[in-house]
Amino acid sequence: MIVVMKSGSTPEQVEHVVGLVRSMGLKEHVIVGTERTVVACIGDDRFKDKSRLELIEGVDRVVPILATYKMASSETKKGRTIIPLGGKLGATIGGTKVPVIAGPCSVEDREHLLEIAHAVKEAGAVGLRGGAFKPRTSPYAFQGLAEQGLKYLAEAREQTGLAIVTEVMSIEQIPLCVEYADVLQVGARNAQNYNLLAGLGHVHKPILLKRGMSSTLEEFLLAAEYILAGGNDQVILCERGIRTFELDYVRNTLPLAIVPELHRRSHLPVVVDPSHGTGKSHLVPDMCKAAVACGSDGLILEVHNDPEHAMTDGAQSLNLDQFRQMMASVKRVAAAVDREI
Ligand code: PEP
Ligand code: MN
Repeated sequence: MIVVMKSGSTPEQVEHVVGLVRSMGLKEHVIVGTERTVVACIGDDRFKDKSRLELIEGVDRVVPILATYKMASSETKKGRTIIPLGGKLGATIGGTKVPVIAGPCSVEDREHLLEIAHAVKEAGAVGLRGGAFKPRTSPYAFQGLAEQGLKYLAEAREQTGLAIVTEVMSIEQIPLCVEYADVLQVGARNAQNYNLLAGLGHVHKPILLKRGMSSTLEEFLLAAEYILAGGNDQVILCERGIRTFELDYVRNTLPLAIVPELHRRSHLPVVVDPSHGTGKSHLVPDMCKAAVACGSDGLILEVHNDPEHAMTDGAQSLNLDQFRQMMASVKRVAAAVDREI
Protein backbone atom coordinates (compact mmCIF):
# COMPACT_ATOMS: atom_id res chain seq x y z
CA MET A 1 0.00 0.00 0.00
CA ILE A 2 1.00 3.63 -0.28
CA VAL A 3 0.13 6.40 2.11
CA VAL A 4 -0.61 9.60 0.21
CA MET A 5 -0.03 12.67 2.38
CA LYS A 6 -2.09 15.84 1.98
CA SER A 7 -0.34 18.66 0.19
CA GLY A 8 1.13 20.85 2.91
CA SER A 9 1.58 17.96 5.36
CA THR A 10 4.46 18.52 7.78
CA PRO A 11 7.67 16.48 8.13
CA GLU A 12 6.50 15.53 11.66
CA GLN A 13 3.31 14.03 10.24
CA VAL A 14 5.35 12.06 7.70
CA GLU A 15 7.58 10.87 10.58
CA HIS A 16 4.51 9.75 12.47
CA VAL A 17 3.38 7.69 9.47
CA VAL A 18 6.86 6.19 9.10
CA GLY A 19 6.86 5.18 12.78
CA LEU A 20 3.52 3.44 12.47
CA VAL A 21 4.55 1.72 9.23
CA ARG A 22 7.62 0.33 11.01
CA SER A 23 5.61 -0.78 14.00
CA MET A 24 3.45 -2.75 11.57
CA GLY A 25 6.55 -4.72 10.55
CA LEU A 26 6.83 -2.95 7.19
CA LYS A 27 9.60 -0.87 5.66
CA GLU A 28 8.95 2.64 4.44
CA HIS A 29 10.14 4.37 1.30
CA VAL A 30 9.40 8.08 1.36
CA ILE A 31 8.93 9.72 -2.04
CA VAL A 32 8.90 13.51 -1.82
CA GLY A 33 7.08 14.88 -4.87
CA THR A 34 6.62 18.47 -5.96
CA GLU A 35 2.92 18.38 -5.01
CA ARG A 36 2.84 15.96 -2.12
CA THR A 37 4.72 13.28 -0.24
CA VAL A 38 3.96 9.59 -0.59
CA VAL A 39 5.08 6.85 1.80
CA ALA A 40 5.34 3.47 0.09
CA CYS A 41 5.05 0.57 2.56
CA ILE A 42 7.24 -2.36 1.64
CA GLY A 43 6.56 -5.88 2.82
CA ASP A 44 3.60 -8.20 2.99
CA ASP A 45 0.75 -5.88 4.03
CA ARG A 46 -2.15 -8.21 3.23
CA PHE A 47 -3.16 -8.69 6.86
CA LYS A 48 -2.22 -5.26 8.20
CA ASP A 49 -4.78 -2.84 9.58
CA LYS A 50 -4.62 0.13 7.24
CA SER A 51 -7.29 2.16 9.02
CA ARG A 52 -4.82 3.26 11.74
CA LEU A 53 -2.77 5.01 9.09
CA GLU A 54 -5.80 6.82 7.75
CA LEU A 55 -6.39 8.38 11.17
CA ILE A 56 -3.04 10.18 11.28
CA GLU A 57 -3.24 13.90 10.72
CA GLY A 58 -1.82 14.94 7.36
CA VAL A 59 -2.76 11.66 5.66
CA ASP A 60 -4.98 12.07 2.64
CA ARG A 61 -5.62 8.40 1.83
CA VAL A 62 -4.17 4.91 1.93
CA VAL A 63 -4.15 3.17 -1.44
CA PRO A 64 -3.54 -0.54 -1.94
CA ILE A 65 -0.97 -1.42 -4.61
CA LEU A 66 -2.40 -4.18 -6.71
CA ALA A 67 0.76 -5.11 -8.60
CA THR A 68 3.01 -7.73 -6.98
CA TYR A 69 5.97 -5.45 -7.74
CA LYS A 70 5.30 -2.48 -5.46
CA MET A 71 8.28 -0.17 -5.85
CA ALA A 72 8.62 -0.77 -9.57
CA SER A 73 4.94 -0.10 -10.19
CA SER A 74 3.61 3.07 -11.75
CA GLU A 75 0.91 2.87 -9.06
CA THR A 76 3.57 3.89 -6.53
CA LYS A 77 5.27 6.60 -8.57
CA LYS A 78 3.55 8.63 -11.22
CA GLY A 79 6.35 10.41 -13.15
CA ARG A 80 9.17 8.63 -15.00
CA THR A 81 12.38 7.80 -13.17
CA ILE A 82 15.42 9.57 -14.63
CA ILE A 83 18.79 8.05 -13.78
CA PRO A 84 22.21 9.69 -14.26
CA LEU A 85 24.52 7.21 -15.98
CA GLY A 86 27.81 8.53 -14.61
CA GLY A 87 30.89 9.16 -16.74
CA LYS A 88 31.85 12.70 -17.66
CA LEU A 89 29.24 13.52 -20.31
CA GLY A 90 26.31 14.18 -17.98
CA ALA A 91 24.23 11.47 -19.64
CA THR A 92 20.92 10.38 -18.12
CA ILE A 93 18.32 7.80 -19.01
CA GLY A 94 14.55 8.10 -18.71
CA GLY A 95 14.11 11.63 -20.09
CA THR A 96 13.71 12.77 -23.69
CA LYS A 97 17.31 11.93 -24.57
CA VAL A 98 17.96 8.35 -25.69
CA PRO A 99 21.44 7.32 -24.56
CA VAL A 100 23.34 4.78 -26.63
CA ILE A 101 25.71 2.43 -24.81
CA ALA A 102 28.04 0.58 -27.15
CA GLY A 103 31.15 -1.53 -26.98
CA PRO A 104 32.52 -5.03 -27.27
CA CYS A 105 30.88 -8.06 -25.72
CA SER A 106 34.11 -8.71 -23.77
CA VAL A 107 37.04 -6.50 -22.96
CA GLU A 108 39.82 -8.29 -24.87
CA ASP A 109 42.82 -5.99 -24.61
CA ARG A 110 43.68 -2.34 -24.04
CA GLU A 111 44.24 -1.23 -27.65
CA HIS A 112 41.04 -2.70 -29.06
CA LEU A 113 38.98 -1.28 -26.21
CA LEU A 114 40.39 2.23 -26.56
CA GLU A 115 39.92 2.21 -30.33
CA ILE A 116 36.28 1.14 -29.97
CA ALA A 117 35.66 3.62 -27.14
CA HIS A 118 36.91 6.60 -29.16
CA ALA A 119 34.98 5.51 -32.25
CA VAL A 120 31.63 5.02 -30.51
CA LYS A 121 32.06 8.28 -28.61
CA GLU A 122 32.71 10.13 -31.90
CA ALA A 123 29.54 8.61 -33.34
CA GLY A 124 27.41 9.80 -30.40
CA ALA A 125 27.45 7.03 -27.78
CA VAL A 126 27.46 8.18 -24.15
CA GLY A 127 28.23 4.82 -22.55
CA LEU A 128 30.84 2.10 -23.12
CA ARG A 129 29.86 -1.50 -22.47
CA GLY A 130 32.32 -4.37 -22.09
CA GLY A 131 32.36 -7.52 -20.01
CA ALA A 132 35.30 -8.16 -17.71
CA PHE A 133 33.51 -11.12 -16.12
CA LYS A 134 31.79 -13.24 -18.76
CA PRO A 135 29.03 -15.79 -18.18
CA ARG A 136 30.00 -18.48 -20.69
CA THR A 137 28.12 -21.65 -21.52
CA SER A 138 31.38 -23.61 -21.63
CA PRO A 139 33.79 -23.52 -18.68
CA TYR A 140 36.64 -23.79 -21.23
CA ALA A 141 35.63 -20.64 -23.12
CA PHE A 142 37.21 -17.20 -22.49
CA GLN A 143 35.95 -16.03 -19.10
CA GLY A 144 37.02 -12.37 -19.31
CA LEU A 145 40.01 -10.37 -18.07
CA ALA A 146 38.51 -9.73 -14.61
CA GLU A 147 40.10 -6.76 -12.77
CA GLN A 148 42.52 -6.02 -15.61
CA GLY A 149 39.50 -5.60 -17.91
CA LEU A 150 37.90 -3.21 -15.43
CA LYS A 151 41.12 -1.16 -15.41
CA TYR A 152 41.04 -0.85 -19.19
CA LEU A 153 37.39 0.26 -18.99
CA ALA A 154 38.27 2.91 -16.40
CA GLU A 155 41.10 4.15 -18.64
CA ALA A 156 38.66 4.37 -21.56
CA ARG A 157 36.36 6.51 -19.38
CA GLU A 158 39.30 8.74 -18.49
CA GLN A 159 40.09 9.29 -22.17
CA THR A 160 36.53 9.63 -23.53
CA GLY A 161 34.22 10.54 -20.64
CA LEU A 162 31.94 7.61 -21.54
CA ALA A 163 30.00 5.97 -18.68
CA ILE A 164 31.20 2.42 -18.07
CA VAL A 165 28.68 -0.44 -18.08
CA THR A 166 29.94 -3.88 -17.08
CA GLU A 167 28.48 -7.14 -15.86
CA VAL A 168 28.64 -8.29 -12.25
CA MET A 169 28.15 -12.04 -11.97
CA SER A 170 28.27 -12.69 -8.24
CA ILE A 171 27.96 -11.02 -4.86
CA GLU A 172 31.73 -11.34 -4.34
CA GLN A 173 32.38 -9.28 -7.48
CA ILE A 174 30.18 -6.35 -6.38
CA PRO A 175 32.87 -4.27 -4.56
CA LEU A 176 35.32 -4.57 -7.46
CA CYS A 177 32.71 -3.64 -10.07
CA VAL A 178 31.47 -0.72 -7.95
CA GLU A 179 35.04 0.55 -7.71
CA TYR A 180 35.54 0.77 -11.48
CA ALA A 181 32.16 0.93 -13.22
CA ASP A 182 29.41 3.55 -13.46
CA VAL A 183 26.57 1.10 -14.16
CA LEU A 184 26.48 -2.55 -13.08
CA GLN A 185 24.83 -4.98 -15.48
CA VAL A 186 22.99 -8.09 -14.31
CA GLY A 187 23.06 -10.61 -17.13
CA ALA A 188 20.10 -12.62 -18.38
CA ARG A 189 21.43 -15.76 -16.69
CA ASN A 190 21.46 -14.01 -13.32
CA ALA A 191 17.99 -12.47 -13.56
CA GLN A 192 16.80 -15.09 -11.06
CA ASN A 193 19.85 -14.95 -8.80
CA TYR A 194 17.91 -13.43 -5.93
CA ASN A 195 20.89 -13.17 -3.58
CA LEU A 196 22.79 -11.13 -6.16
CA LEU A 197 19.75 -8.93 -6.84
CA ALA A 198 19.24 -8.31 -3.12
CA GLY A 199 22.96 -7.52 -2.76
CA LEU A 200 22.69 -4.92 -5.51
CA GLY A 201 19.92 -3.29 -3.50
CA HIS A 202 22.65 -1.89 -1.23
CA VAL A 203 24.74 -0.44 -4.06
CA HIS A 204 24.71 3.30 -4.79
CA LYS A 205 25.14 2.92 -8.54
CA PRO A 206 22.61 2.27 -11.32
CA ILE A 207 21.87 -1.36 -12.15
CA LEU A 208 21.10 -2.38 -15.73
CA LEU A 209 18.95 -5.45 -15.24
CA LYS A 210 18.59 -7.76 -18.20
CA ARG A 211 15.43 -9.77 -18.62
CA GLY A 212 15.97 -13.48 -18.04
CA MET A 213 15.71 -15.39 -21.28
CA SER A 214 12.63 -17.23 -20.02
CA SER A 215 11.29 -14.61 -17.59
CA THR A 216 7.76 -13.33 -17.96
CA LEU A 217 7.17 -9.60 -17.75
CA GLU A 218 6.00 -10.00 -14.14
CA GLU A 219 9.06 -12.04 -13.17
CA PHE A 220 11.23 -9.37 -14.80
CA LEU A 221 9.62 -6.60 -12.74
CA LEU A 222 9.86 -8.71 -9.58
CA ALA A 223 13.58 -9.15 -10.22
CA ALA A 224 13.80 -5.33 -10.36
CA GLU A 225 11.78 -5.22 -7.15
CA TYR A 226 14.49 -7.17 -5.30
CA ILE A 227 16.97 -4.37 -6.08
CA LEU A 228 14.51 -1.56 -5.33
CA ALA A 229 13.35 -3.13 -2.07
CA GLY A 230 16.94 -3.14 -0.82
CA GLY A 231 17.06 0.65 -1.17
CA ASN A 232 18.65 1.13 -4.60
CA ASP A 233 16.13 3.07 -6.68
CA GLN A 234 18.33 3.26 -9.78
CA VAL A 235 17.20 0.31 -11.88
CA ILE A 236 17.25 0.27 -15.68
CA LEU A 237 15.22 -2.51 -17.30
CA CYS A 238 16.84 -4.15 -20.33
CA GLU A 239 15.00 -6.28 -22.88
CA ARG A 240 17.57 -8.55 -24.53
CA GLY A 241 15.40 -11.14 -26.21
CA ILE A 242 13.89 -14.38 -25.01
CA ARG A 243 14.41 -18.01 -25.93
CA THR A 244 11.71 -19.31 -28.26
CA PHE A 245 11.38 -22.15 -30.80
CA GLU A 246 12.90 -19.77 -33.35
CA LEU A 247 16.63 -20.51 -33.20
CA ASP A 248 17.67 -20.45 -36.82
CA TYR A 249 17.41 -16.96 -38.29
CA VAL A 250 17.82 -15.37 -34.86
CA ARG A 251 19.60 -16.32 -31.63
CA ASN A 252 16.75 -14.94 -29.50
CA THR A 253 13.35 -13.42 -30.22
CA LEU A 254 13.14 -9.70 -29.46
CA PRO A 255 9.63 -8.88 -28.17
CA LEU A 256 9.47 -5.13 -28.55
CA ALA A 257 5.86 -4.90 -27.37
CA ILE A 258 7.30 -5.22 -23.87
CA VAL A 259 8.66 -1.65 -24.14
CA PRO A 260 5.29 0.17 -24.14
CA GLU A 261 3.89 -2.38 -21.68
CA LEU A 262 6.75 -1.81 -19.22
CA HIS A 263 6.19 1.92 -19.57
CA ARG A 264 2.53 1.40 -18.74
CA ARG A 265 3.24 -0.69 -15.65
CA SER A 266 6.43 0.87 -14.34
CA HIS A 267 8.17 4.22 -13.96
CA LEU A 268 11.61 2.67 -14.57
CA PRO A 269 13.56 3.42 -17.76
CA VAL A 270 13.74 0.71 -20.39
CA VAL A 271 16.62 -0.05 -22.75
CA VAL A 272 16.74 -2.53 -25.60
CA ASP A 273 19.69 -4.73 -26.53
CA PRO A 274 19.21 -5.63 -30.20
CA SER A 275 22.57 -7.47 -30.31
CA HIS A 276 21.61 -10.28 -27.95
CA GLY A 277 18.00 -9.78 -29.04
CA THR A 278 18.78 -11.00 -32.55
CA GLY A 279 22.26 -12.52 -32.48
CA LYS A 280 22.82 -11.39 -36.07
CA SER A 281 24.59 -8.13 -36.88
CA HIS A 282 22.64 -7.57 -40.12
CA LEU A 283 19.40 -7.39 -38.07
CA VAL A 284 20.74 -5.02 -35.42
CA PRO A 285 20.39 -1.60 -37.14
CA ASP A 286 16.73 -2.14 -38.05
CA MET A 287 15.90 -3.37 -34.55
CA CYS A 288 17.67 -0.31 -33.09
CA LYS A 289 15.32 1.85 -35.15
CA ALA A 290 12.29 -0.19 -34.15
CA ALA A 291 13.25 -0.04 -30.46
CA VAL A 292 13.55 3.75 -30.49
CA ALA A 293 10.33 4.06 -32.50
CA CYS A 294 8.36 2.10 -29.87
CA GLY A 295 9.65 4.22 -27.01
CA SER A 296 12.84 2.61 -25.75
CA ASP A 297 14.66 5.02 -23.41
CA GLY A 298 18.07 3.79 -24.54
CA LEU A 299 20.02 1.26 -26.56
CA ILE A 300 22.83 -1.06 -25.52
CA LEU A 301 24.63 -2.87 -28.26
CA GLU A 302 27.78 -4.70 -29.19
CA VAL A 303 30.35 -2.98 -31.39
CA HIS A 304 33.77 -4.34 -32.32
CA ASN A 305 36.65 -3.02 -34.41
CA ASP A 306 37.10 -6.50 -35.94
CA PRO A 307 33.94 -8.57 -35.37
CA GLU A 308 35.29 -11.49 -37.38
CA HIS A 309 38.01 -12.03 -34.79
CA ALA A 310 36.05 -11.05 -31.67
CA MET A 311 36.58 -13.44 -28.75
CA THR A 312 32.85 -13.42 -27.94
CA ASP A 313 29.66 -12.56 -29.83
CA GLY A 314 31.32 -11.42 -33.07
CA ALA A 315 28.31 -12.52 -35.15
CA GLN A 316 26.07 -9.96 -33.49
CA SER A 317 28.59 -7.12 -33.25
CA LEU A 318 28.47 -4.11 -35.57
CA ASN A 319 31.78 -2.94 -36.95
CA LEU A 320 32.71 0.70 -36.48
CA ASP A 321 31.35 1.81 -39.86
CA GLN A 322 28.09 -0.03 -39.37
CA PHE A 323 27.75 1.61 -35.96
CA ARG A 324 28.22 5.10 -37.42
CA GLN A 325 25.60 4.43 -40.10
CA MET A 326 23.18 2.99 -37.57
CA MET A 327 23.55 6.09 -35.38
CA ALA A 328 22.82 8.41 -38.28
CA SER A 329 19.58 6.63 -39.16
CA VAL A 330 18.43 6.09 -35.57
CA LYS A 331 18.84 9.80 -34.90
CA ARG A 332 16.21 10.46 -37.56
CA VAL A 333 13.82 7.94 -36.01
CA ALA A 334 14.36 9.50 -32.58
CA ALA A 335 13.47 12.93 -33.93
CA ALA A 336 10.28 11.50 -35.47
CA VAL A 337 9.10 10.34 -32.03
CA ASP A 338 10.16 13.54 -30.25
CA ARG A 339 13.30 12.05 -28.75
CA GLU A 340 16.94 12.92 -29.20
CA ILE A 341 20.08 10.81 -29.44
C1 PEP B 1 26.37 -9.51 -22.56
O1 PEP B 1 25.86 -8.39 -22.41
O2 PEP B 1 27.43 -9.71 -23.19
C2 PEP B 1 25.61 -10.68 -22.08
C3 PEP B 1 26.24 -11.79 -21.70
O3 PEP B 1 24.29 -10.46 -22.10
P1 PEP B 1 23.06 -11.40 -21.69
O4 PEP B 1 23.16 -11.58 -20.22
O5 PEP B 1 21.87 -10.61 -22.14
O6 PEP B 1 23.19 -12.69 -22.46
MN1 MN C 1 27.60 -10.54 -25.48
